[in-house]
Amino acid sequence: MKYSQIDIIGGGCAAFSLARLVNKIPLKNINLFLGKKNDIPQDHFWGFWKNEFNEDAYKNANHIWTRWSIFTENSKTTLSSTKHPYCVIKRKRWLSVCKSELKSNKINYFKENVIERDNYLFVKDQKIKSELIFDSRPPDIPSNALLQHFQGYVVTANKDVFDETAVILMDFRCDQSKGMHFIYLLPFSKKKALVESTIFSKKIENKKFYTTEISKYLKKHFDLTSFTVSNHEKGVIPMHQISIKSPNSFNIGTRGGAVRPSSGYAFTFIQKQVSQISNQINKKILINTEIHNKVDLFLDKIFITVIDKSPQLAPKIFSRLASQLNGDEMAKFMSGECSILTKLKVIFSMPKLPFIKSFFFMLRSDVRN
Ligand SMILES: Cc1cc2nc3c(=O)[nH]c(=O)nc-3n(C[C@H](O)[C@H](O)[C@H](O)COP(=O)(O)OP(=O)(O)OC[C@H]3O[C@@H](n4cnc5c(N)ncnc54)[C@H](O)[C@@H]3O)c2cc1C
Repeated sequence: MKYSQIDIIGGGCAAFSLARLVNKIPLKNINLFLGKKNDIPQDHFWGFWKNEFNEDAYKNANHIWTRWSIFTENSKTTLSSTKHPYCVIKRKRWLSVCKSELKSNKINYFKENVIERDNYLFVKDQKIKSELIFDSRPPDIPSNALLQHFQGYVVTANKDVFDETAVILMDFRCDQSKGMHFIYLLPFSKKKALVESTIFSKKIENKKFYTTEISKYLKKHFDLTSFTVSNHEKGVIPMHQISIKSPNSFNIGTRGGAVRPSSGYAFTFIQKQVSQISNQINKKILINTEIHNKVDLFLDKIFITVIDKSPQLAPKIFSRLASQLNGDEMAKFMSGECSILTKLKVIFSMPKLPFIKSFFFMLRSDVRN
């Protein structure tokens, strides 16, 4: 099928990443419906492991590390990869990379909100009716969903404290009473780091909880009490499979199920999803936006049930996982690109009983629903 116009709803990661790629295809028009709240002042980082789908983000990354660590009360595992380093890019930087590649004579911007009525999308009471519509409006989050919620800031210390060569991907040496909780630390230099307190639970805590946890952590593990803070970051990511089906449009980004349910990582999956879509448009074949494989989604569902029911097992699960894999394997696993052998290593590294119990719990609730 040959298309002449594409409509893209949203002005975030998925919308601009897709616009950037389809802009290279000979089409007459690309309409971008950005929404009213598109120009948000706050910036934040997207973290990802380099692979073939995020090469351009890697080239524009703000920071790149070849080592990352996972800490528990009684273990430290450091993995490394030069082929698949851990990178971060700021939201605004990536969006401006995308915008800089758009040809102005082809792109039309609309700043109004899009609304949905009777399965059709409207802007200012006008029906959006291209042959191809991609929708990235954030989905509603069900009230009982497990969430990944986090807050943090960039800390600047008055002395050298951070090891700038290794990201702290997860440090579980913090209060575990609210759910699965870890500190994420991106060391930009010996004195400067983004430090975030991240919880997987159903209840979002008040700001004081996250900031107190960060202060306690910095004091205990870096002997750091005197520092300034800037660039406050916070977010809530749903930890469940999102599969919204819309009869007249294709969903992309978070709305299109791009978030990996077990980790909350989405940036790389969005790049994979938009690359898949742009290839399908180019080859004039049916559009399929699915990017996670069924086995991964099934394993993620079991994992989420375990974390929901027994969050105290999380440090053991992640330290075992990291100790069974090398850096390349872990990077590929987290990006949904690993081999069957790696998947088996992950499965066999997990504590058996809680996973088997969760499997049967899942089966029972699937039957009931
Ligand atoms: C603070 C934060 C940090 C994150 N960090 C990471 C990370 O390190 N690594 C990672 O892989 N993932 C991360 N994620 C998860 C994921 O990558 C992001 O949520 C990503 O932005 C999802 O892209 P998206 O396009 O689906 O949504 P968004 O980027 O949120 O875009 C949604 C767009 O829809 C627009 N919109 C809303 N309503 C309407 C409407 N009615 N009409 C038209 N437009 C509308 C909004 O204005 C916005 O532009 C993070 C998420 C958050 C919130």
